[in-house]
Amino acid sequence: MSEPLLVATDVLRSYDVRGQAVLALRATSLTVRAGDVLAVTGPSGTGKSTLVSILAGWDRPTSGTVVRSASTVFVPQRVALLDTLTVLDNIALAAMDRAGQVPALASALAVDHLLDRFPGETSMGERQRIGVARALHAGAAVTLLDEPTAHQDADHTKLVLDAVAEPPPGCALVIATHDPVVVAVASVVLHLEAAVAAIGRP
Ligand code: ADP
Repeated sequence: MSEPLLVATDVLRSYDVRGQAVLALRATSLTVRAGDVLAVTGPSGTGKSTLVSILAGWDRPTSGTVVRSASTVFVPQRVALLDTLTVLDNIALAAMDRAGQVPALASALAVDHLLDRFPGETSMGERQRIGVARALHAGAAVTLLDEPTAHQDADHTKLVLDAVAEPPPGCALVIATHDPVVVAVASVVLHLEAAVAAIGRP
């Protein structure tokens, strides 16, 4: 079995909401290895977004540990593109030296007709696919996507899944999703249970 790329152990997240501790994510453990396509699923509010942002290092767990042995890239639900760069430059950002590869990737995600535009001249669904293209272009060992098909119709969901569902050798994918179509392409499924609403005072 290959070495883990990412290991989370008993990761728990709570928030202090006006003096009361609110549990956002129950203690959760997982291991991501090369070749894995891990779907994090479960009902709304069970902590899917919280977990992937912790795995990506964008948020910190209240308790528990995350060990990243490899590079990661994260596409949050609200994709942040740089407004003053064209779509092409936004996608190429992490590896400008490989910008020549962007048109093929953009074509696979049906955003190739937008390469000369600025992000403000694109739709929410297009911005989401541009964010996925940017993450894939970055070529990190672990790509983490939060609800990457939330703004896609069935045809564009298939494009996104075709682009991401077979990670390159040595790489892995983690997707937070409530969409059964997305869960169906996963090799590993982590189903989150509802967190209890309150766990007492911090
Ligand atoms: P999911 O992605 O499964 O819908 P989230 O990870 O977005 O769930 O949220 C999990 C829980 O954490 C929800 O109950 C949500 O209300 C709560 N939560 C998320 N962010 C905050 C915050 N900044 N402050 C307080 N509670 C939060």
